[in-house]
Amino acid sequence: MKLQNKNDNAANRKSYVGKVYNVGEKQEKNKVLESLNCNWSKLHKDGYIHIHDLDAYGLTYNCLTFDILNAFPYERFIDLSTEEKIVSVFDFIKELFAKMGNEQSGGMSLANFDSDFAKIFEKLKVDCRGNEALFNACIRSLILWCNNIHTRMGQTSYYVTFNIGLGTSDFARFLSKSLLDNFYKSGDLIYKPNIVFKVHKGINRFPEDVNFDLLQKALLCTAKKMIPTYLLCDCEADKDIDPFKLSIMGCRTRVVDDIFGKNGAIGRGNIDNISINLPRIALEASNSNNPIEMFKNRWLEIADTTKDILIDRYEKTLSSDIELFPTNCEYKLWCEDINKVGLYETLKHGTLSIGFIGLTEAIEILTGNKFWKDNESYKLAIELVKFMREYVDTLREKYKLNFSLLATSGELISGRFVELDKKLYDSPVLHKDYYTNSFHVDVDSKLPAYRKLELEGPFHIYANGGCISYVELAEAPFGNAEGLDELVEIAISSGVHYLGFNFPKDVCKGCGTSGTFDKCPKCGSKEITRIRRVSGYLEVQDFFTTGKMKESKNRKAN
Ligand SMILES: [Zn+2]
Repeated sequence: MKLQNKNDNAANRKSYVGKVYNVGEKQEKNKVLESLNCNWSKLHKDGYIHIHDLDAYGLTYNCLTFDILNAFPYERFIDLSTEEKIVSVFDFIKELFAKMGNEQSGGMSLANFDSDFAKIFEKLKVDCRGNEALFNACIRSLILWCNNIHTRMGQTSYYVTFNIGLGTSDFARFLSKSLLDNFYKSGDLIYKPNIVFKVHKGINRFPEDVNFDLLQKALLCTAKKMIPTYLLCDCEADKDIDPFKLSIMGCRTRVVDDIFGKNGAIGRGNIDNISINLPRIALEASNSNNPIEMFKNRWLEIADTTKDILIDRYEKTLSSDIELFPTNCEYKLWCEDINKVGLYETLKHGTLSIGFIGLTEAIEILTGNKFWKDNESYKLAIELVKFMREYVDTLREKYKLNFSLLATSGELISGRFVELDKKLYDSPVLHKDYYTNSFHVDVDSKLPAYRKLELEGPFHIYANGGCISYVELAEAPFGNAEGLDELVEIAISSGVHYLGFNFPKDVCKGCGTSGTFDKCPKCGSKEITRIRRVSGYLEVQDFFTTGKMKESKNRKAN
């Protein structure tokens, strides 16, 4: 048997273990597809929907923001010396990521790395003063671990996100500062972990705020490394929620409302998500007398089946063996004690998300116009996303489960859907070989950044399962914190809840020079490592899937 190493995901899988994993994963995915109701697997195979992480179907959930304060095993550390405590706590963080990262299918996040770990160390009677050098060394080591350790599924790094920015104690501020400084200094080829800076008035948003300096530091780091991204706690969708309870997973998953009362992200995550191919439905509807009504009806039919699959997967996960979750049992990182209440009472707090991709292509098919160029088409775009959200809300009521609407990032599927649609239809929207992720305006729109944010902002309040708006810059805005800060303000007032800045980052393999080039301006080498963000996390472009590669090449600055 020939071992295949087709890069289905964005991450690297080149090693003996990685290849064997890949073969097993493919078989498992096929086995799952064959075991499903044949109408469900047909929808997936035909490209109406994409069931994400099929190999994990019924075996585990997707992602989790750790309830670290509740879970922290103080007794393990209390008798150690100060130096041992510091080193051991950082080792413990790595241990958690490594174990949990192989127990669930998606990302892991800390909602308040700065303030939570300040509290943990204070409880352990460790002060940051006098121990700055050791803390810096440990944080530097943690960053390198997140970037370099590829033990997840044999040969990928872990999807880890640190949310920071709100901690105002000296200790918390020190941890934020150290994380940002060390990440900034770590070099151009270090692009993990994902760091999310939480922006909130009264804490860091304005010059009079105590952590305003940290926001500036974060922006300077973004200007060099595209990380952090920004969780805008004062935006319309999030302004009434305790910002400490907000947390983002690098992939953009947002978990807030809980029909079982544990509102906020901490100790909760996404259980499963399925994305719907909007352009396919639009292509089908475009031949009818009333394409928009037809589109809505067909979407409802498909979403109804999608809901059934999400519930089936959720129920199968609930009835799986609790022994599949040894780290969850050991450390209780969910908002409930899984040992005491069991899988059902724990995982019911997670979200079931219906996602979508290709809104701009769907609108172009239905109206002949880009929604970001034409007012009527824009109104229709908003109307359709609102329509999807209203349906998802009815599911919450009817099934008493945390259904949410996800503006999907398009990992893997942006190319897969187009490939399948091309076999059935011919339309100009298919010629570029990818669909635009979620509700984003086309990546080659060349709209000014402020305009892109104004247009995308109003969608954020509907996509309660997660979404992001990106500003595409032509090159790294080195040193221009002010320029980025202005865009943060425009984003907040436009309704954007989560914001990222992208720019092409090329690093010369010969001499390490970074910038935007095909030939190194310093040593002339054409051996270039290209780092890009397409699905939330930064990756080296060699590992992109075909659709993602084409999208990335088409990007034009805002
Ligand atoms: Zn060079």
